[in-house]
Amino acid sequence: MCGIVAYVGPKEAYPILINGLKRLEYRGYDSAGIALLNSSLNVYKAKGKVSDLEDIIKDTDLHGTIGIAHTRWATHGEPNQVNAHPHYSQSKEIALIHNGIIENYASLRKELESRGYVFESSTDTEVLTNLIEDIKINENVDLFEAVRIALNQVIGAYAIVVISRNDPDTLIAARKGSPLVIGIGTDDYYVASDATPIVEYTKNVVYLDDEEVAQIRRNNTLKIKTIRNHEKTPYVQQLELNLSALEKGGFEHFMLKEIYEQPHSIRDSMRGRLHADLGTVSLGGIIDYEQKLITAQRILVVACGTSWHAGLVGEYLIEDLARIPVEVEYASEFRYRNPVIYEHDVVIAISQSGETADTLAAIELAKSKGATILGICNVVGSSIARATHAGSYTHAGPEIGVASTKAFTAQVTLLTLLALRLAQLKGTLSKSRFLQILNELDRIPEKVEETLKTSEVVTRIATQFKDVRNFLYLGRGYNFPVALEGALKLKEISYIHAEGYPAAEMKHGPIALIDEEMPVVFIATNKGTYDKVVSNIQEVKARKGKVIAIVTKGDTIVKGMADYVIEIPETEEMLVPLLATIPLQKLSYHIAVMRGCNVDQPRNLAKSVTVE
Ligand code: GLU
Repeated sequence: MCGIVAYVGPKEAYPILINGLKRLEYRGYDSAGIALLNSSLNVYKAKGKVSDLEDIIKDTDLHGTIGIAHTRWATHGEPNQVNAHPHYSQSKEIALIHNGIIENYASLRKELESRGYVFESSTDTEVLTNLIEDIKINENVDLFEAVRIALNQVIGAYAIVVISRNDPDTLIAARKGSPLVIGIGTDDYYVASDATPIVEYTKNVVYLDDEEVAQIRRNNTLKIKTIRNHEKTPYVQQLELNLSALEKGGFEHFMLKEIYEQPHSIRDSMRGRLHADLGTVSLGGIIDYEQKLITAQRILVVACGTSWHAGLVGEYLIEDLARIPVEVEYASEFRYRNPVIYEHDVVIAISQSGETADTLAAIELAKSKGATILGICNVVGSSIARATHAGSYTHAGPEIGVASTKAFTAQVTLLTLLALRLAQLKGTLSKSRFLQILNELDRIPEKVEETLKTSEVVTRIATQFKDVRNFLYLGRGYNFPVALEGALKLKEISYIHAEGYPAAEMKHGPIALIDEEMPVVFIATNKGTYDKVVSNIQEVKARKGKVIAIVTKGDTIVKGMADYVIEIPETEEMLVPLLATIPLQKLSYHIAVMRGCNVDQPRNLAKSVTVE
């Protein structure tokens, strides 16, 4: 998920590694570290920024012509110095950096502990480091072979680079599900998680494919094998990237980059939790609280802003699939309105940053009444993660744009997994229905990818409506929270007044606003209430409102009535929020850009709201 840089060649490695880490800072991270090999293998790490790392090591001997460096964004274990990468193996012969998540780290760790390994950190990464060391010793193989064998035992996603104190000429790199690129210089090699740290040195690169391991040696040899031991011929490509396009990974804004990351971030939220092959869902973080959840009289969700909208989708999902009553509360209201809280209640607190002040206060209040509190946060080790009894991380990766995009879809993904797990435990869905939804959820990242391609119509709509003063967003059922989130996104970054409503509520007030100036966005994908939504669209048309409709591919009725139509792929009704949200994020983005707004840092807003 975060940043990797490595170097081997005749030059001093340290300046290349540090500059490389700085080039990768746009990705967001919580700690940084570096391993340099000279007469010994030295690892230096710091919590915080790359500049904090520089401060710590400025008086150290940093010579060496081979090294690895990392910026970490914690997924397993708090963001602190011990958990930062590189990780030494137990004997300190090996050091390793890793992007991604080792899903089966817990069982691997147990196994290694039973053989005498002691772990310093709480990371999944250190487990992989010791696994490689264990194989290297027990099978008496070289590092290349040890890494290859180890990766056959690993489930999950990784981009890794490994270095050994006993071989000052070699880097071993491998990837699966997390990118890694090797830069080929005239007499040296660079490795990085994207091309940004490499481009100033060379344009010749080899992109590793999934399940490939590379042996990169100082004497100009690059060998690539699959983890199943088939040799591959390196395919050298020319980089087209130039230095000016480097920041933000080539995207104009963080928000756009994060919108486009959603196929990956949604997949990451499901990683190790949705097992399509086994037909099961597991949420390790809350496993001890499953009984509490299925016997709870009700679940209370507390959250603010976008997380509150995700909570609302969660309410529909959990009630629909698992038949447990759910109430969704604004944390700021909940904490001050003397709410009724029972000991048997389970409270789910949702927050991207895990620092939201009102949500934290709501947690403390519910705790004092004896309720069980679970958290859904993106930032590992955050205050909410610590204040709750248990919880699950969304694993969406760092979100830098102030307006939340990928964190929202990751929250919704996690709530879908939770609803499915509770339904499985309670037996509220037939086996075949359960599997149908589970398999469709597994396909959602590809459908998000397809949805992201709808660009031309979105920019046309943005051009047409960028100067209006008001927008209305309407949806029913699962699409009601989508309408709220669509309106919030537009408000936040373009400063156009926008309201989201349940479509049928229009008649109870907002219809008075409709005239030929008023764009009305309908999320019109519903199966059960399709005809009702069609009637609502007619009501808007009758008053000369402009209709923008999000429809399922192949729809003809709404298509015939709306002024603009955005098509999304067909999916299960309860999964539509994961798709329908995407074009609404893009619409807000394009309108904001056309209006000249500061998309990533909208006025008056903060990324993490730590005051009430
Ligand atoms: N899962 C690893 C950790 O928590 C790697 C995180 C990353 O990709 O930065 O340390």
